[in-house]
Amino acid sequence: MNHHRPRIVVVGAGIGGLSAAISLAARGARVTVAERLDRPGGKMGEVRAEGFRWDTGPSVITMQHVYEKLFSLAGRALDDYLELTPLHPITRYFWPDGVMIDALADEAAMYEVIRDTFGPEDANGYRRFMRYARRLHDIVGGPFLYRHKPSWRDLLSLPLADVLRIDALRTMHQAIASYFKSPHLVQLFDRFATYNGSSPYRAPATLNVIAYVEMAQGAWYPRGGVFEFARAWERLANELGVEIRYGEPVQEICVRSGVAEGVRLAGGAVLPADAVVCNVDYVWAQRTLLPAHGRKRAEVLEPSCSGFVMLLGIRGEFPHLAHHNIFFTQNYPREFEDIFDRRIAPSDPTLYLCITSKSDPDHAPAGCENWFILVNAPALSEAFDWSSQGEHYAQHIRALLAARLARAGIAFSPSDAVLLERRLTPLDLQATYGGHRGAIYGFSSNTRTTAFMRPGNRDGQIRRLYYASGSVHPGGGVPLVTLSGMAAAEQAARDLGL
Ligand SMILES: Cc1cc2nc3c(=O)[nH]c(=O)nc-3n(C[C@H](O)[C@H](O)[C@H](O)COP(=O)(O)OP(=O)(O)OC[C@H]3O[C@@H](n4cnc5c(N)ncnc54)[C@H](O)[C@@H]3O)c2cc1C
Repeated sequence: MNHHRPRIVVVGAGIGGLSAAISLAARGARVTVAERLDRPGGKMGEVRAEGFRWDTGPSVITMQHVYEKLFSLAGRALDDYLELTPLHPITRYFWPDGVMIDALADEAAMYEVIRDTFGPEDANGYRRFMRYARRLHDIVGGPFLYRHKPSWRDLLSLPLADVLRIDALRTMHQAIASYFKSPHLVQLFDRFATYNGSSPYRAPATLNVIAYVEMAQGAWYPRGGVFEFARAWERLANELGVEIRYGEPVQEICVRSGVAEGVRLAGGAVLPADAVVCNVDYVWAQRTLLPAHGRKRAEVLEPSCSGFVMLLGIRGEFPHLAHHNIFFTQNYPREFEDIFDRRIAPSDPTLYLCITSKSDPDHAPAGCENWFILVNAPALSEAFDWSSQGEHYAQHIRALLAARLARAGIAFSPSDAVLLERRLTPLDLQATYGGHRGAIYGFSSNTRTTAFMRPGNRDGQIRRLYYASGSVHPGGGVPLVTLSGMAAAEQAARDLGL
């Protein structure tokens, strides 16, 4: 038993930071979290106005087992902190030609949905695809997700047959297109590339594992809103004695003789520490918190996509819409060319519409709904200026939404129905959370090598400095970021003898 209880400072109370703080406090460390905002959750935030309530970031929660593991590390049961309700359907998909299906996390039921809409051949293709995606999950789950950052050696240590079966030589789209005849289904499964901000036409087929995670394991909604998730993490951290200081921006991670020794707060005070865990976006942290450090390697990695969010307070109720709805574009390749090649806000994007008042009626006044619309957008660059073009783009998206709803037989007039509107552009995402170029999932996975290039959870040069966020191993999205916090904590604990 180690009687010295190491003191650890975590910079940022996003899900990655809280996950690291919980894992370290559960091992006996004294943990302080310094967070710039006045609330937990980082990108997982909420907005309330005039009787409406919206989540502003994540809306789809997958991989429940990851959160259960974190809570059990602390000797707690997730159920006592958070009511995760399975979504049924997970998502309602609408296509421009009027086709509509509900995606279900029950393979037999989904088989029937596909057979009835697209015919038996695609239903069998779906079965084969799910078997293939499960194999991917079984192979890559170990080396790429649930453990430390993979090295080329990990890949070499896989049996040759497995190396071929992780399917890194085809793109996601190429693999999916080999299972389905219907372009609708190809598009449906292609969309999972966006779960970590990538393009299905570039990302390696290995990422088809994401479809397995959602379509076989399911997706959940935290009762009360996704922000309740961040509140649950905060409550557990508090119970474990973690001190969370809100409204406390960190100005510098203090490094002496190659060792992280604590942080300097904006007010000038120094919090000394035996180790520092950085939850701030990796590139942003290199630039703003470790200025003398000046390493550039990660800046050459392509950022993931960003997002354009509209929060609408809607008069009226729309029984044909589900909790999660997708309105696909006609031209999916062009949407990704706009985002990753032309780097402009896509002119005819797929629209994602989430309505939590379908599950929690008190998220909107009686007779109203709280609409959250997300459009995938490019990472910030000189190619698109949100400050001058954002207003026009918002009007375009409203009109597009009305047109897509009309094609689905749903009457919606923005000028009558929209009672209030709030927006978050990539500029806001960068300014609010400190995300490099407004990227919402760290780096894209648009190349085969990203899993190896992405920074690990322990700094390569500065001792006692660790990273827990979507911009480091194993990547973006709530479940992976939680794993990132657990992995950073595990490495710090090993180094500190905890
Ligand atoms: C619109 C949107 C939709 C999304 N949808 C989904 C989804 O459906 N499912 C999913 O799984 N994921 C989704 N994501 C991604 C998910 O939100 C992120 O991957 C995850 O929340 C990132 O967590 P993090 O801990 O890495 O970083 P963050 O949440 O960015 O946390 C970093 C924290 O550091 C703080 N900070 C920054 N600088 C400083 C400083 N100098 N001092 C102190 N604190 C600082 C920030 O304020 C922030 O709280 C979405 C994201 C967005 C924006």
